[in-house]
Order: sequence, then C-alpha cells, then structure tokens
Amino acid sequence: MSERIPLSAPCIDGNEWTYVKDCLDTGWVSSAGRYVERFEEAVRDYTGAGHAVACINGTAALHIALIICGVRPGDEVIVPTVTFIAPVNTVRYAGAFPLFMDCDEYYNIDTDKVMEFILKDTRFSDGATYNARTGRRIAALLPVHVFGNAARLQDISALCRQRRIPVIEDATESLGTWYTDSSGGRKRHTGLVGRIGCISFNGNKIITTGGGGMIVTDSTVLARRARYLTTQAKDDELYYVHKEVGYNYRMSNVNAAIGVAQLEKLPRYLAVKRANYVLYQELLTDMEDLCLAGVPPYAENNLWMYALQIGDSSRGKSRDRIIDTLQGHGVETRPLWYPNHLQKPYRQCQAYRIEKAMGMWRKTLNIPCSVDLSPEKVTRVVEELRHA
Ligand SMILES: *Cc1c(COP(=O)(O)O)cnc(C)c1O
Repeated sequence: MSERIPLSAPCIDGNEWTYVKDCLDTGWVSSAGRYVERFEEAVRDYTGAGHAVACINGTAALHIALIICGVRPGDEVIVPTVTFIAPVNTVRYAGAFPLFMDCDEYYNIDTDKVMEFILKDTRFSDGATYNARTGRRIAALLPVHVFGNAARLQDISALCRQRRIPVIEDATESLGTWYTDSSGGRKRHTGLVGRIGCISFNGNKIITTGGGGMIVTDSTVLARRARYLTTQAKDDELYYVHKEVGYNYRMSNVNAAIGVAQLEKLPRYLAVKRANYVLYQELLTDMEDLCLAGVPPYAENNLWMYALQIGDSSRGKSRDRIIDTLQGHGVETRPLWYPNHLQKPYRQCQAYRIEKAMGMWRKTLNIPCSVDLSPEKVTRVVEELRHA
C-alpha cells in the first residue's frame, strides 16, 4: 500500500524546533514574549500592513474585526454563502445577522450582485445603509478570498465607501495573494484592500502556527482597539481596571515561534503551490470531464487550495463516487463547503438571488495541495482520478 496523501498537511522543515525550544528554554510559553512581536513584525513586513495584531486563531480575529468596525447586535453583515462557516458564525457572535450572497466563477462572493442589492434593496439615511426588507442596518461587507483567490473588490469598494459599509476581508486563506488594482498599479496584499483583514494560521493553511490568526490594517486606531480587546481590555495592567468587556484572544509565544519559522519559508511554499498547480493542469488536459478551476486575472493568487471541476455533475453523484474511490486508495479529497444559507442555524436568514452556489457545490472537489507534495504524488493523484 502506498503512502496516504492528505488534502493539506503542515510541513515542519525549518527553524520551528529551534524557535520553540527557545520558548521552552526561556520559559516564555504563554501570551507574552518576543516571538509574538517578531511574528507581527514579520507579517507587517511581508504584507506591507501598517499594523498586525496576533490572535489565538482566525475566527477570533474576525470576531474582533467585526466588533471594532462597529457591528452591533441587530445589525446585518453581507457574507458569501460559499465559504467555510467560521466568518458567518462570527457575525452571530457579534449579535448581528448574516445576509447571504451568491458566488462567482472563482467561488468568491459575487460583488456585482452585492452592488445590485445595495442599489436596489437598501436605503441610505443618517449616514448608514438599511436593508429595505428587514429595516436592519447593513453594518459591514465580509468578503472571503476563497482558496486564496482574491475576491473582486474594485467596484464594490467605492460603493461601500459612499454607503458607509466597512469592508472586512476574510483573508484567512489568502496569505501571499496580492490584489493588483488596475487603476493605481499599486499591489496590495489581500486583507489591506478594505478597512481591515484577518489571516489564519490553522494547520491546513499555507503556513501554520498550530492555531493562530492575525488582524492586519493600516488604521492605527483599529489596531490599538484590536490589541486592547484581544488582551482582556486592560485599562490599568497593575490595578485591573477594565472599561469594556475584553477577550482572551492573544496568540501564545510558542505558536508565534512556529509562525516565525513558517513565514521564513513562505516564498518557497508559494513556488511549490504554483508548480503543482501547473503540473495538475498539464496532467489533467487530456481528461475530458475534469479540469482545474481557473483563478482571477486581477490578482496574484497564492494557489493555496486546488479546486477540481467535474463536467458531468448530475446531483453531485460523480463527485461523491470520486471522493469515495480515492479515499479507498489513500488519497484525501473533499467536496466544497455546503452553502451556508442552507445550514440549519442560518436557514431563516435572508439569501439574495443565490443561483450559482449549488451548481458549484455539486461539481467541485478539492484535491491534495500540501507544500511538501512531490511531482510524483501529484502524478499519483491524477492517476487515481483517471481510474475513478
Ligand atoms: C480557516 C478559515 C477560517 C478560520 O480560521 P481559524 O484560524 O481556523 O479560526 C475562517 N474563514 C475561512 C474562510 C477559513 O478557511
């Protein structure tokens, strides 16, 4: 039996052991220590962010981002239906309600439909935008850069500015993805196109800290608020004075130490992701019913997760058969997330003209994409697909 090929596994082959040992040797193992600051600095340097605030995970980063951008109980936040469910849940943590949008050809939120919705079905009064149907305030737009593909934000950004809807980017999957704005020519890292962005370092992401996240923003005010709220809202560190409800959301030094080591290798990982994407594409060319999903042309995408599309996708049966067969041969693949507007906690929430998401769900599966995936393993995955 040949070696099992996981979908996306971490690769610990750099300075991780050295830096973690340093934490253990010095006793700095908790939520203070120089690796947390070093990691924040490294993420700032890499992304060009004015500020970076390390959090315990990407979900916590999103929760804080919503709060500090002014999302309040009873508000609504525009979210994509096609995404891992975490960002949708954080909307509820903040007491607000998700308003679901359809996806585009790159699995990202369809910003044309978002614009149509804002222009047709909302009203603007007293400096805020209200959903005409529910009367609730639209407090934020939360696009997700799915699989590392940059969501198209160029046109929607101006409208959101006019309508005072902050854009909070879920860049959890898109470390290494750069948005190339055709007007200015200035490259911007995803997460820094809107007001604030959140990155994740979960075990399956392009780099990992074990578990971890980061808020990135150019706003000094938001960064200060994020740091304050993620560390229990301490107004006086010695005398325990708190003027707000805080959270214990700070990243630990051990996690940050792993992150510093991982980030050193990001350029190499990005190159592997690209090489394997090209190889998959080549090997799949002669297979009539299967092709690799394309990526948006207006960005440099990190190619974190590969999406395979099945031509004959009748009710998702071919997809499930492929997943089962490959599982039996030790190759892990997964379907796309089930659309969130159909998940039990969210069925009552508004879903706006969702027409494409189910079709994408039926025809898509993710195939192995780890950064230590050798060309031989990519070839084996494709051979297994051929047999299935
Ligand atoms: C991984 C992920 C998150 C959550 O990040 P964690 O660090 O696991 O909390 C949020 N949104 C998306 C789209 C993700 O893929």
